Amino acid sequence: MKNITIPSNYNYIAAFLTFACNYRCSYCINYFSGKNFANKIISGNDWVKALNRINSREDLPVTLQGGEPSLHKDFIYIINNIKPTLHIDILTNLQFDVDEFSDKVDSDRLKRDAPYASIRVSYHPAVMNLNDTVLKVKRLLALGFSVGVWGVLHPEQKDEIISAQVACLSEGIDFRTKEFLGEYNGQLYGTYKYVGSCSKKSKKQCLCKTTELIVGPGAAVYRCHADLYENRQPIGNLLDENFKIEDIPRRCNFFGHCNPCDVKVKTNRFQEFGHTSVNIEQISD
Ligand code: SF4
Ligand code: SF4
Repeated sequence: MKNITIPSNYNYIAAFLTFACNYRCSYCINYFSGKNFANKIISGNDWVKALNRINSREDLPVTLQGGEPSLHKDFIYIINNIKPTLHIDILTNLQFDVDEFSDKVDSDRLKRDAPYASIRVSYHPAVMNLNDTVLKVKRLLALGFSVGVWGVLHPEQKDEIISAQVACLSEGIDFRTKEFLGEYNGQLYGTYKYVGSCSKKSKKQCLCKTTELIVGPGAAVYRCHADLYENRQPIGNLLDENFKIEDIPRRCNFFGHCNPCDVKVKTNRFQEFGHTSVNIEQISD
């Protein structure tokens, strides 16, 4: 299949291997608009075929995520068979066997020059044990992997996250916090570029242009996270021989039902604040 070149203005490549997860956090952003995901799962072999078409840059990895990406039955096969020129990051809750992982995956394969770890562990205090998490992270670090922990500053868990951060930093573990995105007690939390984009009150028309390649569990490509999570029509599929990325604004009738991931003001891959994944124009009723 022909190679797919990533536009130079793209900031993120996400491969959602599966939406399955061993947890069900109350604030999981995947459920911002309910649970409508497409359930199609493809084999590791197909993921490798799909992802190996991508020509990216030194500073732009493919990020394996989910759900919990390690629940894909071919998780390790995928990591070990993605072409070496494509860097790999992983977002995980670390509920896999780290010794088995380190036996099968070369730590150097997951290293690159970046201001944050390539294995980013999300710590969820309501469902995860901090001591177990620290032990696993330390084990991976000792084995040469690049690992950091992230915690969401949810209003109910802020204090626990801050104490976990203090505990991790004292153990030499990089622990960063993320703004809580979503609704809590009827209030929408997060810093969003477009007023009303996540209100879920009305559906408006607009033109929307992304800077991210969002690939769902069936290798389908979506305009944005909202389309992925809402199971809206994809714009193509990485396993389609004729697929190529068109770096263009697209008409959308769902403004108001955007996902916080797409419209929040955040840091880009250089950890510079002020970036938004999509650019939206011509909003009208
Ligand atoms: S661990 Fe992550 S993917 Fe799983 S339910 Fe919690 S927030 Fe969602
Ligand atoms: S306007 Fe919102 S829902 Fe529509 S494509 Fe853009 S981010 Fe997605």
